[in-house]
This record gives sequence, C-alpha cells and structure tokens, in this order.
Amino acid sequence: MKLAAMHGRGTADKGWLVSTIGLVRELETLVGDDHVIASPSAGSSYLSDFRGLFAGRAAAVVKPATVEQVADVVRLCQSRGHAIIPHGGNTGLCGGTAPSSAGGDVILCLERMTRVRAQDVVNNTITVEAGCILHSLQEHVSGLDRYFPLSLGAEGSCQIGGNIATNAGGHSVLRYGNMRDLVLGLEAVLPDGSIFNDLRGLRKNNTGYDLKQLFIGSEGTLGIVTAATLKLFPARRQIETAFVALRSLDDLMEVYQRAQKHADEFLSAFEMVPRIGLQMAIDHVPEVQDPLDEAYPFYALIELSSSQIAWPLRPVLDGFLEALLVSGAIRDGIISSSLREAQSFWRIREACVEAQRLAGPSFKHDVSMPIDRIPAFIRDATWAIERRFPAVQVVAFGHIGDGNIHFNVCCGREQEETFLTLAGPVEDIVYEAVASVGGSFSAEHGIGLLKRDALLRYTSPDALRMMVDIKGLIDPNNILNPGKVLSPATVNMARDRKVFA
Ligand SMILES: Cc1cc2nc3c(=O)[nH]c(=O)nc-3n(C[C@H](O)[C@H](O)[C@H](O)COP(=O)(O)OP(=O)(O)OC[C@H]3O[C@@H](n4cnc5c(N)ncnc54)[C@H](O)[C@@H]3O)c2cc1C
Repeated sequence: MKLAAMHGRGTADKGWLVSTIGLVRELETLVGDDHVIASPSAGSSYLSDFRGLFAGRAAAVVKPATVEQVADVVRLCQSRGHAIIPHGGNTGLCGGTAPSSAGGDVILCLERMTRVRAQDVVNNTITVEAGCILHSLQEHVSGLDRYFPLSLGAEGSCQIGGNIATNAGGHSVLRYGNMRDLVLGLEAVLPDGSIFNDLRGLRKNNTGYDLKQLFIGSEGTLGIVTAATLKLFPARRQIETAFVALRSLDDLMEVYQRAQKHADEFLSAFEMVPRIGLQMAIDHVPEVQDPLDEAYPFYALIELSSSQIAWPLRPVLDGFLEALLVSGAIRDGIISSSLREAQSFWRIREACVEAQRLAGPSFKHDVSMPIDRIPAFIRDATWAIERRFPAVQVVAFGHIGDGNIHFNVCCGREQEETFLTLAGPVEDIVYEAVASVGGSFSAEHGIGLLKRDALLRYTSPDALRMMVDIKGLIDPNNILNPGKVLSPATVNMARDRKVFA
C-alpha cells in the first residue's frame, strides 16, 4: 500500500500549462533564470513533505533573494491566481510543504535568504533572514558569546522561517519557551504583496494587537516570513548532564519535581526515554550503547546549565540525585564527565526517533498535557492501544518538562500492510485520552494537512470560526498555502455556524 496521498484541486488542463509557461518566464524576470525551476519533475524533494506522506505537483519552484523579490513573486502569483507554498528546510512533520495535485502551485523557497541583517549584544538580539539554517544561527551567535536556545533534532536543515511558521519547540522550552517566546520582531510578506515590518526588537510594546504573533505558528497560511528579530541569551559556561534510570512513571514525576525545586532556573532540559526506545536505538543505530549495566523501564535525561562560573552546578546536581538514589526514586545513573559523554546521552534521545523509523512504520502523536497528568495518560493510552491491537508497541518519550509526549505506536516491517489500516482507530484512542486529561493533540508539530480533521474535532466552533475569519481577512483569495491548517470542511462548518456574524 502506498501511503503518499495526492491532494488538491484536480488535474491540470492545456490552458493551464500554457499559462504556466508565461508564469515561469515572469518569475525568471523577477528573480533571475538560475533561481526558478520550471515544472519540477516527479520525485523532486520540493514536491513532497519530509515523511513522504503527501505529494503533489507544481508549476515552478522560485528562490527569491530579498524581501522585495518575495513581494514581487507574491503579487505576480496573486494576479495570476497561483497558490504559493512557502518552503523552508522541509523538515516539518505534518505535510505543510506539499503542493496540491493540480500542478499550478508555486513553491516559494527561502533558501537564498540567509543574511544576518543586524546584531546587538546590548539589546541581546539578532535580526536574521528566514532562510537561515537553525544550526548556522546557533554557531554564529556563539561567536558573539551569546546563546540562541531553540534546539531540535532537525536543526542541521530546518530554517528560522520554518521554525517561526511552525512555532517550533524542541529541548529547551522548559527554560526558554518555544519560538513564540523567542521572536521579538518579524517581517512578513502578506498575500497582497505588501510587507509587514515590525523588526524593532522591543521587549515591551503594548500598542494594540501583537500582530507578529499571528504569523508565528500559522504554517505559511497568513504570510511569508522573510526575517525576524530574535532574543539572545548569555553564552552557557557550565552544562551538567545526567542520565538516570527509573522504575516507574511515578518515580519520573518525583525526580522531575525534585529537579525543579533544587535546580530551579538552572534546569534547562528534562527528557524521558523508555526502555523500549533505548533498546530500539541500540538495535538500529550503530553508535548508541546502553550507558548503564542493567536495563530499567524508564530513563530521564536531565540537563542543568548556567552562564556564570562562580556557582558550580555539579554540587547542585549531585545533591538532589543522591537524595533520590537514597529514596529509591532513582535506581542507577551516570553524570557526564565530558562534553562528549553528554552528547552521547543526547544521542540516545535523538536516536530514539531515528530508530523507530528504521524499525518499521509508526503512527506519531505529538501531544501535550498538564505535567502531572503524564503518568496516567501514558498508562491509560498504552493499555487501551495494546489491548485492542496486540501486535503493536507503544514508544512514549519526550519533553517531560514541557508536558510534551511523543506517543508513537509502532509495528515491525512484516505487519506494515495491515498496520496502516489502523491509523484512524489508533488516533481516536490517543486523542480521546489526550482530551480526557485536558491536553492538546498537537504540541509542537502543528497541523499542516495531517491533523486538519483533529483540529476540526477538538477545537471549539468559536475558535475555528475566528481562525477562518482571520484567514479570510488576510488572504481573501486563499493563495497562501491553501488547504493547510484549515480544511474545506472546517471552512464550511465555520461559515455555516456564523458564530460571530
Ligand atoms: C528529526 C526531526 C526532529 C524534529 N524535532 C522537532 C522538535 O523537537 N520540536 C519541533 O517543534 N519540531 C521538530 N521537528 C519538526 C520540524 O523540524 C520543525 O517543525 C521545523 O520548525 C520546521 O522547519 P522547516 O524550515 O523545515 O519548515 P518546513 O518543513 O519547510 O515548513 C513547515 C511549515 O512552515 C511553512 N513555512 C516554511 N518556511 C516558511 C516561511 N519562511 N514563511 C512562512 N511559512 C513558512 C511551510 O509552508 C510549512 O507549512 C523535527 C523534525 C525532524 C525531521
């Protein structure tokens, strides 16, 4: 069974193709011949999302180099009625970059917009263009003796514009917040080709609606992010990392609360890996090894960090870990003695994701809830899934300190065919369990095409109606990433109800 789904508005006709040739010529005039790919061929990475779940066709891929060129391209597409699909590093996990099957979409790729426009070490801000790769930004600011805290597994290829468009989270949300908290100013091109510019980098600005927040997390449906002013922090001078073994999820909660109480603002990450996740990583990712002698049901990866050196963190970490060892909440553990060892602990956490992909198909659920509800959620949802589908395995891991669990349901390659038919029933069980603990069905990956039905099901009609109204106001012709986040069903439902009319 092939999972990749075509989506969109039907097939291209002859007139459409003729108009596409004209469009490509005009795009070449705007950005230069070398920066337009006409009708990218099937199989091109521009035509499908990262996971290959959704694929389509496009009239062209266009790569502008400046905000003015982006605005010109948008105006052209608007006047000719071509939809625009913003394309960052293409690491998004919900199908947000896939074009429709109609063949007329223009994929607007930000990869040439990588300039640092300004940096200010007094204000602790940097203004960068949207195509800047996250890892390059991290490296650049470390040269300024500063730290940019957004960090995630795809940081070698995701772009700042994509991070903003998806309101990316990652490992350090616990201490620094997600992208929404890290953006002080934004520049975006609106669907009519006008430029919204609010790159002032102010930490206080109570002058009406905070419009930049509309674009953060909007997945390219309201504007094309072209630059942002981001918060910087002092460089980290001490990092202490521990990998500890636990017997139960209740012990995990106890360790988390103790870490919070004793390490307070130094606690910069608190991640959980279950044994099954570590075992998959050991089995499938060559450089991963078990750092402990015995196997335990759960592990926590705890990171403390600080920008100062006067107050050593190691005694803080030793202090609360020793107390937890004595109480029995921690069964075993290891504190890294070098950066390399700390990286090997983080490698286990990252390899947990990679190993699941290598082991076979899985349904991924990126959910969040109040932190104290995590043990009950994992226990109840795992029991419900494994009782109904005995052939599958649940791998629940993630950012405990943010209340964000990646609740993945996996099977071996041999069951692949039948497994794919379970997607709907599995999702129902997981999302109902999430709703029952007051959680969210999408913590950090967004909606894209993949989670539109869930958005419709688990969001209040009033909230949906507001979303549809905002989209209609900013993009009345629906040319920016049409069909992403808001499905036609959502739009129809919202219009029929006329909640705010
Ligand atoms: C291994 C791995 C680990 C990951 N870990 C995490 C994690 O810990 N936390 C997390 O939050 N995510 C994670 N992700 C998901 C993904 O990396 C993030 O969503 C990331 O922010 C996407 O950035 P991108 O540049 O690749 O965006 P893309 O995939 O290119 O685009 C994502 C969406 O944003 C839109 N978009 C892209 N650029 C722009 C722009 N300039 N203006 C307007 N819209 C735009 C696209 O149209 C699309 O809808 C992970 C992904 C992988 C593959």
